[in-house]
Parts: sequence; C-alpha cells; structure tokens
Amino acid sequence: MFKNLAFRDSNLANRVSDRIRKLASDLDVKFCHVCGTHEWTITHYGLRSLLPGTVDVIAGPGCPVCVLPAAEIDEAIYLAQDDVAIVTFGDLLRVPGSKSSLQEAKATGGDVRVVYSVRDAIKMAEEEKDRDFVFLAIGFETTAPSTAIEILNKPPENFSFLVSHRLIPPAMELLLGIGDLHIDGFIAPGHVSTIIGLKPYEIFPKAYSMPTVVVGFEPLDVLFGIFMLLKQIKKNEAKLENEYERLVSWEGNKKAQRLMSQVFHVVNGRWRGIGDISLSALELKEKFACYDTRKKYDVKIEGSIDLLPGCLCHLVMIGKIKPPECSLYMNACTPQAPKGACMVSTEGTCRIWAKHKIS
Ligand code: SF4
Repeated sequence: MFKNLAFRDSNLANRVSDRIRKLASDLDVKFCHVCGTHEWTITHYGLRSLLPGTVDVIAGPGCPVCVLPAAEIDEAIYLAQDDVAIVTFGDLLRVPGSKSSLQEAKATGGDVRVVYSVRDAIKMAEEEKDRDFVFLAIGFETTAPSTAIEILNKPPENFSFLVSHRLIPPAMELLLGIGDLHIDGFIAPGHVSTIIGLKPYEIFPKAYSMPTVVVGFEPLDVLFGIFMLLKQIKKNEAKLENEYERLVSWEGNKKAQRLMSQVFHVVNGRWRGIGDISLSALELKEKFACYDTRKKYDVKIEGSIDLLPGCLCHLVMIGKIKPPECSLYMNACTPQAPKGACMVSTEGTCRIWAKHKIS
C-alpha cells in the first residue's frame, strides 16, 4: 500500500497497527481530527482498515470551504451581480449559497474569477483600475497570514477583502460541548499548528482532560498520533503532545502570528449549519476599513439558508454521522452534482469518501 519512503513504510505501518490493536483491545474510543488533509490521508491510505473496531476516527469541521456559511457566499453573489469582480479559489465556485452558487452567478453574467493566490487577484485589480475587485478570503490560520501580508502591502483602492477566515481551536472546543459526541482524544491539525504552535491546544488537556496530539499528514504520522493518544488513555493521562515535531513548535510561527494580530481582531463567527462559534472568526481592524468589503459596500444578507432540504452536512462536519448516513449521498448528491458543501471541496469529507467509492 505505501511506497517505501519514510512515513509511508508499509512494514512499519503494519507494526504500528499491531501495537494499536494490542493497546486498544479492551477499549472503545473515538478520536476526532479537524482537518480535510487528515481525512484525505486516512481515507486514501485506508488507515481505518488498519485500526481495530475499538478505535473510531471521526472528521470534525476541518474543511475551510465546507464551513463557510451560505450568507457569505450570498454576499459574494450579490456583489458579483452588482458589477463587482469577485475573485476567489476554484473550490468555492460550486459551494451552495442560499439560492445559487458563484458558478451560477457567473453563468448568468456575474463577474466571478478564479485565482491560485491573493497576489494574482491584486494583479488583476492593478491591471483593471476602472473596475472594483473583491477577494473572498477563506481558510483557517494557515491562510490568514497571506491575506494579512497583502493588506499590509496596501493593495490598490479598487481592491477589498471579503474576510471569511475561521479559527480551529474554538471549533474543537465546541465539539466538546456536544453532549452525545463523546470524543476521547483530538488529532490536532499539523498545518494550522505550524502557524499557531502547540500553545492554543493546552486548554484541551487542562480544562477538558482531553488527550490531544498534534499530528502530521503522512500515513505513519496519523498512525503514530493514534498510538500516542491510546498510550495516554491506557495510562489514564490527558496531555498535549506533538507528533509533528519536524514542523511544529510550541510557539508556532511568531512572524505569521504577528501579521495576523496586526491586521485582524477575533470575533464570533458563523459556521455552516453549525451556528455561531464564539471567537472563531477574523475581522479586519478599523484602520484597514478601506479594504473591508463589508464596510465599503452596504451588503445586507438576511434569512440565508445553510442547508438544502435533506442535506446533513452539519452532522457530517461535527463527526456525528458518516457521509453514507445522509440519504442524498451518491444519490442526489455526487461530486459532479453536489447538493452540500461537503461534496464540493477536495477537503470535504463527503467528497473524499465519494472519490474513494466508500458506501
Ligand atoms: S451527501 Fe451531500 S448533502 Fe449529504 S451531507 Fe454530504 S454533502 Fe451534504
């Protein structure tokens, strides 16, 4: 299954799997990750098949495209129909808003453009000075610093940011408040942790007695992470550990953190189908109001609808159900014709499961 590379060595994977089986033989545990890349690694390499039935791994709200509420897609659609160029990443085009998507807005004449980076979007604005450009800035702590850099670099006046960044630790805390979810340990996301470091996760072992391990993205990283969580549980411990030491430090990337705190403040944020999560979103500070789309244009979206009838994305995103438990999965909702956000993005759990033909 794995190529013979460090962290993809199948013999080592089988040995770790055996150790996991021994450790978990008398347990019944559920571990939660909060990262689309972790879900991809776990599904693509068939890691769940290497785990005993006593260890369940569920996917939390770790796909930045999936968690974006319909209201924020609706804002972008409204502007695209109002003669403003909306620029964003390709993954977002098919994400459903309340009534339509950015792709549909484009098909009916809206100016919607796809870029690979915010820099490319700014270049467009520099080249077309007589047009207003809005960049729909999404993502977790991993992508927020690149938005911050561009804002500090003073983009042209015809450019602004529809800021839709979200923060991961508050979403993890929310999961612990869902009474019937019963999580026994967190597989914390490696990418986000390269920026924020280990420190923000301290709360989980300290306040919630929740074993937490920051884990990398190779198959063996994930298996080691699960092994480390099991060892804590066997010893009746709840600690914060770092499996991804090769890239994640206690302090994280201080330069990126400084950039973020220069530009943003932390506010409550809405997550698709989940609702408001306290202090889970970023907003531009007042001194950057001229780059804040919501201040530049008077866009008021009311009564937005996060979930189409029958869509259970909110339950998939908190790990309460697995994709095949949604009756629309691979019936009315497919990667070719997605009904819910989790089937759109390459980081969405439904899309990952569908692409790997899991039923
Ligand atoms: S199958 Fe489609 S509608 Fe159902 S939860 Fe997944 S993305 Fe949402």
